[in-house]
Amino acid sequence: MFIPVIGLEVHAELLTDSKIFCGCSAEFGGDHNTRCCPSCAGFPGTLPMLNKRAVEYAIRAGFTMNCDINKLTYWDRKNYFYPDLPTAYQVSQLYLPLCVNGKVDINVDGEGSKQIRIHQIHLEEDAGKLVHDDFNNVSLADYNRGGIPLIEIVTEPDFSNADEVKEFVEKISLLLQYAGVCECRMEQGQLRVDVNISLMRQGDEKLGTRAEIKNLNSIKSITRAIEYEIKRQTEILQNGEKVVQETRRFNENRGTTSSLRSKVDAHDYRYFPDPDIPAVTITQAELDSIREQLPELPDTRLERYIDEYKLTPVNAKILIADRAISDFFDEAVKSYNKPKSISDFIIVELLRRINLGELDANAIPFSAQEFARLVQAADEQKIAKNNAKTTLRYMIETGDSLDKIAEENGFWIKEDREKLVSTIDKILAENENVVAEYLAGEVKVFGYLMGQCTKALRGVCTPQSIKKELEDKLGKLK
Ligand SMILES: [Zn+2]
Repeated sequence: MFIPVIGLEVHAELLTDSKIFCGCSAEFGGDHNTRCCPSCAGFPGTLPMLNKRAVEYAIRAGFTMNCDINKLTYWDRKNYFYPDLPTAYQVSQLYLPLCVNGKVDINVDGEGSKQIRIHQIHLEEDAGKLVHDDFNNVSLADYNRGGIPLIEIVTEPDFSNADEVKEFVEKISLLLQYAGVCECRMEQGQLRVDVNISLMRQGDEKLGTRAEIKNLNSIKSITRAIEYEIKRQTEILQNGEKVVQETRRFNENRGTTSSLRSKVDAHDYRYFPDPDIPAVTITQAELDSIREQLPELPDTRLERYIDEYKLTPVNAKILIADRAISDFFDEAVKSYNKPKSISDFIIVELLRRINLGELDANAIPFSAQEFARLVQAADEQKIAKNNAKTTLRYMIETGDSLDKIAEENGFWIKEDREKLVSTIDKILAENENVVAEYLAGEVKVFGYLMGQCTKALRGVCTPQSIKKELEDKLGKLK
């Protein structure tokens, strides 16, 4: 029997406007080699200049994961050659990382809560990217990504299975998004995960030999890679063989991992302090001010939705899973204080359309106040429920206002009292027999009469006023 021991190294690209050591744009994409300069392209003689914002963002990230912040921190060169790294070293932090000793609580279904320790969070620069052109059989280097600030979040080996890792990656993505330091779009490489994994024989104290799986960029790949690797290492150990310490890559199509290179240790990189970049000192006042500016974090928000707004934990979790949606919900509740109605309409109608790709959660074409008015109109039956859904669809498609759409399509229920009275009179006259049954005590036929009236008065009056008028009239006939 073997127990998996798993630790993570998570790389997250920080959302700064410019790169970490020069003024080039840090935005994703762009034509090849249009977002680089002599400094980030590694020309000799250039000098780096630190982007203060990158340090601030890394501290924010550290606070969300309950880290201690080192008030003195400096930079180290990690030496290795690769064509996407023009200086042949990466500026990183080894000896005195910015954030240390953190912890993040995760909740796994069926397992309860577990604390994952964060060993450190350090800052470093991203490398460029190789573009492989199979047609011409060449590889070209694109340095647009080179020098984008990254944080590397290093955990202790506290995970025992893929579910825990999945929960953790989702949790820290949420924390980084709420802190406003990384959008965590894994498909764009903004969050990349390396998994260190070994198996320990039950009862043993010594950790087994680990393999590292590099650069996993979706939750699905992380889960599949871990499950495959546990299986692979189990078979090796059961055959009495030894696991080799190495770096492996995950093959998406085959669902397997394969050897990339033998794993090197830190000393192989010949780290040494970077002589070009001054050490950074951070004052307590600066730390306090960064902490004060932190927004409400997802766990606190979740609690508030459940305790104050009485939402179900499932619905509260759906809302906080995207900060833009959660902010939109909070804004809407401010103008119409019925959290459950707002939440239902967001989850059932708005999120469905977002998931269908009809709109982007970050670019909703109407205000939360307008949305709240629509939900309120539906609640008060000033607009029929189905028409409220249609109105939302038109608001998304046309960008027109609620009033314009409801007016043009005749969705507002006008409460035409004259028509209400005459229609009910007419229906009662046409259904003499049913009315007689009702008066003789067959109260259940009321439903039939009510059905006839609502059908005839759809869009003219609200169901409440129809019901009241019908009851009054039948009362008078008694
Ligand atoms: Zn540059």
